[in-house]
Amino acid sequence: MSITQIDKQYVAGTYNRFPVEIVRGKGAECWDAEGKRYIDLGTGIGVTAFGYADEAWQAAVTAQLSAVQHTSNLYYTEPCAKLAEALCTRTGLSKVFFANSGAEANECAIKVARKYAAEKKGADHHVIVTLENSFHGRTLTTLAATGQEHFHGLFQPLTPGFIHTPANDLAAFEQVLNEHKVAGVLFECVQGEGGVLNLTDEFVLGMAKLCAAQDILLMVDEVQTGNGRTGKLYAFQHYAITPDVVTTAKGLGGGLPIGACMMSQKCAAVLGYGDHGSTYGGNPVCCAGALNVIQRIDDTLLNGVLEREAYIRQRLSGYTVTGRGLMLGIETTKPVGEVITACRERGVLVLSAKTKVRLLPPLNIPMEILAEAMDTIVEALK
Ligand SMILES: *Cc1c(COP(=O)(O)O)cnc(C)c1O
Repeated sequence: MSITQIDKQYVAGTYNRFPVEIVRGKGAECWDAEGKRYIDLGTGIGVTAFGYADEAWQAAVTAQLSAVQHTSNLYYTEPCAKLAEALCTRTGLSKVFFANSGAEANECAIKVARKYAAEKKGADHHVIVTLENSFHGRTLTTLAATGQEHFHGLFQPLTPGFIHTPANDLAAFEQVLNEHKVAGVLFECVQGEGGVLNLTDEFVLGMAKLCAAQDILLMVDEVQTGNGRTGKLYAFQHYAITPDVVTTAKGLGGGLPIGACMMSQKCAAVLGYGDHGSTYGGNPVCCAGALNVIQRIDDTLLNGVLEREAYIRQRLSGYTVTGRGLMLGIETTKPVGEVITACRERGVLVLSAKTKVRLLPPLNIPMEILAEAMDTIVEALK
């Protein structure tokens, strides 16, 4: 049987995979089992921030792998401590809980908001407000947070206590705060899975102000937007806000599973001994890779992200392009699936988000490879 046939027979049928078996990669390029070369502008959905088989990342990971691969959280390890220090220093947040995925990072944020509000205002202040069209994960609680009915499917009842309100509608948001006993609000600065939709400055600043006035935790889901993706280390840094909680995952690990929930001084002590935990959380190999990623996201790298964004936008003049940095959505006239197939057949891997083509290229994709990929995309869009 071929790998495709074995996979189809034995792997749970939750994924509609593209007909490509990736066997090897280097930087922004990868090769399939037939030896066909692709330029990958999807990076495993925004995960491999520096592309495939990045040498500095590999060196950090393999050094740690050869020393200690896992300890559990009963012991201290250097990569976990150093990564937490780097994240706090670079964001102004105070403490980090490490998980293994984006959904888990958000679960932690929700627990922080619930306990913070329960202690300060009483357990009835437990509502978490999220936005329509948002995506926060696939666990039953993060599905409840996700403001897209079609993901909820036949999995009801989901965790109670979640309210969805329209993005960029401050009056509606204010009304929700007036009508419910709200513990926290969780939002993406650019809604990724929802179609690469940007929140307006006015809406983000307005939410921040209302939350501060009512001591409601302002929580930013940076699972996709984080780690340099939008041209800042974290997307909230584009706005004049100081979030109480920031969650991240995807690009942080550079390809290994890790999630992080960062907490500000205000709520850093909410979770105490025994309140939360994860066997794998803070795994030293994942943290060593993540530390390498974070250390390399400096001003030079971030300027490079903005330069590449400008180049892509210039190549796509005439099309509506949403998003920020190297998290971009392209409105198509043809059905998006046709564009993706045409790109793939011509050796370029791109993603979709709702009806848009979504690009999440490596943050350091060489300009000549990006140019080559854009030639293909421009052709495929016609
Ligand atoms: C991908 C994503 C998640 C879920 O992350 P997993 O690692 O798949 O659990 C949560 N929030 C946002 C914004 C995402 O893009």
